Amino acid sequence: MVKMRPDVPAPALRLGFDPDALKANWQALDHLSGNARAGAAVKADGYGVGARQVVPVLHAAGCHDFFVAHWSEVPDLLDVVAPGSVSVLHGPLTDADAAFAVACGVKPVINSLDQARRWLAAGGGRCDLMVDTGMNRLGLPLSQIGDDLLASLDIDVLMSHLVSAEEPSDINPIQCKRWRDACAVIPHQRSSLCNSAGIALGSAYHGDLTRPGVALYGGVPREDMAGTIRQVVTPQAAIMQVRDVAAGETIGYNATFTAPRPMRTGTIALGYADGYLRLWSKTGSFHAAGQQLPVVGRVSMDMTVIDLSDAPNVHEGDWVSADYSLPEASAATGLSQYELLTVLGRRFGR
Ligand SMILES: *Cc1c(COP(=O)(O)O)cnc(C)c1O
Repeated sequence: MVKMRPDVPAPALRLGFDPDALKANWQALDHLSGNARAGAAVKADGYGVGARQVVPVLHAAGCHDFFVAHWSEVPDLLDVVAPGSVSVLHGPLTDADAAFAVACGVKPVINSLDQARRWLAAGGGRCDLMVDTGMNRLGLPLSQIGDDLLASLDIDVLMSHLVSAEEPSDINPIQCKRWRDACAVIPHQRSSLCNSAGIALGSAYHGDLTRPGVALYGGVPREDMAGTIRQVVTPQAAIMQVRDVAAGETIGYNATFTAPRPMRTGTIALGYADGYLRLWSKTGSFHAAGQQLPVVGRVSMDMTVIDLSDAPNVHEGDWVSADYSLPEASAATGLSQYELLTVLGRRFGR
């Protein structure tokens, strides 16, 4: 007899997700992109937000170009958007990658003449091309943009990637010129240079398509985008236990916190294994019922203790939200806004 597996109960932690803010961020970035359309970088599971929940929202908002890094990220998108709207940034590293792209109908981003040959050998078809204009990481070197082989490719998006768009830098105009030079030589349908921050550099950088990532999810890569971008995700957890702690007692591992007075505390089901890192031990806070609830003692792997002394209306079973505005969290921790998103773990209900 086959035993039915019981449904797993909802976890005591979840990633608060604001689809309206995501939609508004995409629309704002699309508008800032001028004559270009905005696509979306949804790699790394939509920057940790959950590709399967962000892609349908973006698609409904009018987004038709989605970028992932790995081939393993493709299946998550296939039943949510048309395969032809998905590009895989790492390109075909093996013949198996190329065969998979052909079978699924997604576009590889070709990054080298080797990848171009592999793609053509697999049957080829629509692809994108990445030209390296200064990152020196992945992409066709500028010295090869005149190669005859490129004429055999059916290139949709001819792209490059900015090194330093979030700050004024001499390399921005240099990369822009190199990308334009490549566009003049290599046949293609659409041109693309900008990540989130690049969009603010103006129309000379826009081409036909922009590729925002972090700003879609609430990251503010440049001061001048601060008023435009809304917070999209908030780590939230339920209070598992409320306790009274006497003055002089310590809280958590290594007794780093001593109660200066009688306190009321709450233990929540969220820890560094969920990406709520130990560096929040001294600086983190949550909120509920209009009250700020500071973290007390060390964040542990699966639990964090918060101070409820000033929040008598917050009880066991109540949900609290982390103060996790990305620009502020980045300033408080020294971590990048990208890391603060992608570190959020798999135990969150998404
Ligand atoms: C990740 C990525 C983006 C998005 O960058 P953000 O800085 O997150 O906006 C755009 N293009 C490429 C090639 C990328 O790898």
